[in-house]
Amino acid sequence: MRKTTPTIKEIRVYRMPLPAKTLYNMSSSAVLTPESTIVALIDSDGVIGYGESCMATPQAQEANNDSIRSSLSILSPSVIGINPMELDLINSTMENSLKGETEAKAAIDIACWDLIGKRLGKSVAELLGGNITDEVITYHVVGITSPENAEKEAERLQVEGISRIQLKAGGRAIENDIEAIKAVSGVLKGGTVLDVDTNRGWTEDEAIQVSNACLEVSMSMEQPCASEEELYRLKPKIFHPLIVDESATDMNTISKMVSASIADGFGLKITRIGGLTPMKAVRDFCIETQTPMSSDDAWGGDIIGAAGVALGTTVPSSLNRGAWLANTYHQVHYDPVNGPRIENGIIKLPKGGPGLGLVIDEEIFGKPDQVHN
Ligand SMILES: [Mg+2]
Repeated sequence: MRKTTPTIKEIRVYRMPLPAKTLYNMSSSAVLTPESTIVALIDSDGVIGYGESCMATPQAQEANNDSIRSSLSILSPSVIGINPMELDLINSTMENSLKGETEAKAAIDIACWDLIGKRLGKSVAELLGGNITDEVITYHVVGITSPENAEKEAERLQVEGISRIQLKAGGRAIENDIEAIKAVSGVLKGGTVLDVDTNRGWTEDEAIQVSNACLEVSMSMEQPCASEEELYRLKPKIFHPLIVDESATDMNTISKMVSASIADGFGLKITRIGGLTPMKAVRDFCIETQTPMSSDDAWGGDIIGAAGVALGTTVPSSLNRGAWLANTYHQVHYDPVNGPRIENGIIKLPKGGPGLGLVIDEEIFGKPDQVHN
């Protein structure tokens, strides 16, 4: 354990293209080659922490990968010279230098958690209060495709050990969505959980129509409509549990949705909430109110994946909707040995060392896009 008081000496920001090897179709868009943003945060003792933020497509999220890097050019200089172990101070300093832009703040916040773990010789899961388990369940996506292909894919995934399936829907004739839901539900083995996620893709009327047409199907409906207001109006009119993803933007919104019995669970994205510091508070709230949650992100590589798994191992299994990894779609891995990977529907906590458990050779990211010191 290091005893000196560190300060943030340098922040390097990298642009890392992540070409997808298979098609990932959502209601609004398909994921091609998003450019992830990597933050390397170096303290005065030379300890390096890594953070990451990556949006899947500009149509699916409020932020985009260029806006994240632009925000980091403002945020990074504001935290140089601060003790990276003082997470609240880091977060309030970022908030004072730039409003919103949680996706960029998250990259710096996660890098601080990785760095603190490395300084103290502890894993991020330990720093988050301690992991209950060394592994977390994952869910897998069946993208927008024909009912026949969706059915085949659901069968294949279950053979691979996946027991949580997220079927994408929306952006096409509602009859096709209903047909795909019924086709997939028809091949589910006992114990497999089905979640239908439209990424804000249905109107209220369409969501009601689907819920009525699929009364016999055991499933949850994830972010069926675009806005928070629509979800409030929709909830009493549907027969399936409502999971809130894109509208779960911060603790205030999340706590109101639980109090009003609107959300039966959350699809939580670490970068949308602003990093592991605010996510820890949201996790504690979900545990206190017995609200199921996931701990993952919209896209990104080994670093954000490891952060999601670390948080996921601290969530009781009864409330854990799983940690999702985009890296099954990637051709490039930052840590091919220790990076989080799915085996039989389970992701093990990376064990490459303290912090996020990764061993990263920064050369893989190429030349930095920005250097702040
Ligand atoms: Mg979702």
